Amino acid sequence: MKVLALMEPNKVQWIEKEKPTAGPYDAILRPIAIAPCSSDVHTAFEGGAAKPAGFVLGHEAIGEIVEVGELVRDFKIGDKVVVPAGTPDWRARGIQEHNFKHPEGPFSSFMLSGSRDGVFAEFFMVNDADNNLAILPEDVSIDDALMTVDMVTTGFTGAELADIKFGDIVCVIGIGPVGLMAIAGAKLRGAARIFAVGTRPDCVALAKQYGATDIISYKEGNIAKQVLELTNGRGTDATIIAGGNAETFALAIAMTRFGGGNIANINYFTGTEYLPIPAAAYGLGMSGKTIRGDLCDGGRVRIERLLDMIRYGRIQPGKMVTHRFYGFNKIEEAFYVMRDKPKDLIKPVVYIDWSKEK
Ligand code: NDP
Ligand code: ZN
Repeated sequence: MKVLALMEPNKVQWIEKEKPTAGPYDAILRPIAIAPCSSDVHTAFEGGAAKPAGFVLGHEAIGEIVEVGELVRDFKIGDKVVVPAGTPDWRARGIQEHNFKHPEGPFSSFMLSGSRDGVFAEFFMVNDADNNLAILPEDVSIDDALMTVDMVTTGFTGAELADIKFGDIVCVIGIGPVGLMAIAGAKLRGAARIFAVGTRPDCVALAKQYGATDIISYKEGNIAKQVLELTNGRGTDATIIAGGNAETFALAIAMTRFGGGNIANINYFTGTEYLPIPAAAYGLGMSGKTIRGDLCDGGRVRIERLLDMIRYGRIQPGKMVTHRFYGFNKIEEAFYVMRDKPKDLIKPVVYIDWSKEK
């Protein structure tokens, strides 16, 4: 089969690879819509996690099942399914310790394009199909559904890790698709005021639609200072990091209130050995601020719940799709668009109709 693979850092190319095989609980899928992610870009071009030569990128997909293992109960060939970015082995020991994201070691739920070939391929394998696939509902669009697998679940994980409560003052740093969904999540959880940090005009416009009350530019000076000024020195109740660099991590801590403030990181930091904690702003170690950071929630139920939120009008994540490509071969172009981030880009999607592929 044909795949778009990472050969070495900064070098992506089409190669032939063996079609994957399914174990008794697994399924083999053909992608019918995929989206490149900023995380694929970090991995391929920005010094992210090292991968073996010929490793297949991509972890955001809707697919059609072409093969199921003999112990799969709930899915059959021909089903159109939404595939979460996180596909834990639900039989792993760590699951019984409620460790759903790293149950067998760091990042072990992040299989597609993490520990195993991803979805930029004619076929890909999903482990534990009954627990890691969700049927694509007829009344949910491809764009909306595809955004749940990573963007919505990650942004919402940010809002959950930040433990947002009714009336909270929140700052979301970064308003790419992940930060936009963190804003939507913060609003749904009852935030009163939501600062949004970013500059691209289309992202700013959507940030306001999704619930941002104030826009802050990191290009116009220290963002912690700006937030502290706008809150009369108090700072935020919760700060979600969904963009920026190591310095941003320090600024997030600095803008969050002493005594109960939460900092939630969902950003993928590359090019730094350490993440800085500013001693004074962290109360010389005694600030009462909590820092959390994690991968997105994965698995079937998470996605089914997010699809329900779309069906009942709570979220409209498909609005983030700005660039559309048609045909399997367009994955490469879409990936470069994601890397180069033109000003009007929020999220690219590639649609694949196999009846039209040669
Ligand atoms: P984008 O690149 O689309 O957005 C990044 C945002 O950060 C933009 O709004 C950008 O502003 C802003 N930004 C850039 N530099 C700074 C800075 N110095 N200070 C403050 N803001 C800044 O990224 P995505 O939304 O696609 O992804 C966000 C992050 O989430 C990535 O690191 C990605 O790898 C990670 N991720 C994590 C997952 C997880 O499971 N935890 C899952 C999926 C993604 P501007 O408007 O000016 O461009
Ligand atoms: Zn991703």
